[in-house]
Order: sequence, then C-alpha cells, then structure tokens
Amino acid sequence: MKRTFTMIKPDAVENGHTGAILEKINSAGFRIVGLKKTQLTQSDAEAFYAVHKERPFFGELVAFMTRGPIVAAVLEKDNAVNDFRTLIGATNPEDAAEGTIRQLYATSVGENAVHGSDSDENAAIEIGFHFSGRELF
Ligand code: UDP
Ligand code: MG
Repeated sequence: MKRTFTMIKPDAVENGHTGAILEKINSAGFRIVGLKKTQLTQSDAEAFYAVHKERPFFGELVAFMTRGPIVAAVLEKDNAVNDFRTLIGATNPEDAAEGTIRQLYATSVGENAVHGSDSDENAAIEIGFHFSGRELF
C-alpha cells in the first residue's frame, strides 16, 4: 500500500463540496488514514508551495490557500499517487477529464478544488508537513 496527500482547497470547502469530494475519494477505493480541517498560515502556504515561489501566480496562490479553511487528508491505496492524480484531473478544470474532481468542482486553474501529491517522495514530505505519526491510523 502507498500513501498520498490531499487538501480540499478553500474554494471547495466554501462551496460546500467537502462531503461530496470525500465520498468520491472513498468510492475510488482510497482509505482515509488521516483527516483534519484546518487553516494554513501565510508561512505554511509559502513553505508548502515553495517549489512555485518564482512563478507569477505564487502570491495569488498563497492568498487563495490561506483565505479560509482547508481539509487535509492522507490517503492509502495501491499506486496512490498516480491513481489520485487521475481521480482529480488536470490542473486546469477546462482540461480535466469528465467525472474528475476538478472537472466537477473546480472553478479555475488557480481555484481548482483539490491538491494531490505528484510523487511518492513529495507525498511523504507533504504528509509530514501536515500530520504527526499519532494522527495517522
Ligand atoms: N496554479 C495557478 N496558476 C497556474 C498554475 C497553477 O494558480 O497557472 C495553482 C493551482 O492552484 C495549482 C497549484 O498552483 O493546483 C500548484 O500548481 P501545479 O502546477 O503543481 O499543479 P497541480 O500539481 O496542483 O495540478
Ligand atoms: Mg503540483
């Protein structure tokens, strides 16, 4: 079994999609190992997205990710990272496949409803950023 990390982003939480997104995650065969509703601080968001700090959208991304609560989760499944990226769809919802979480719930390339780790290595880093061992079951 492998793990990945996700956040339901502030847009989707604000729009009331938390329950529907968790249901899609369950139905796709992921086990929820850790789950919390929280709000990122400016420094949390800057650190989490540090890889994007030179990109033109960085300031907007940090402002968006800190404007309201998120739901963070650790998910377990065979091939978790890639299967979850398939379930969420492309970064830009206009390019996201039919039935994917972003196609259903994202509003724009920035406000795109969910995060999903892009590699096993980054999943481990992102899980450690948000959860302690005692919060994972
Ligand atoms: N993003 C943005 N504008 C862009 C590309 C990305 O605002 O042109 C935001 C968006 O919220 C995205 C996040 O930055 O999810 C991280 O970008 P990445 O390329 O890693 O996309 P992801 O891995 O989330 O699909
Ligand atoms: Mg990414």
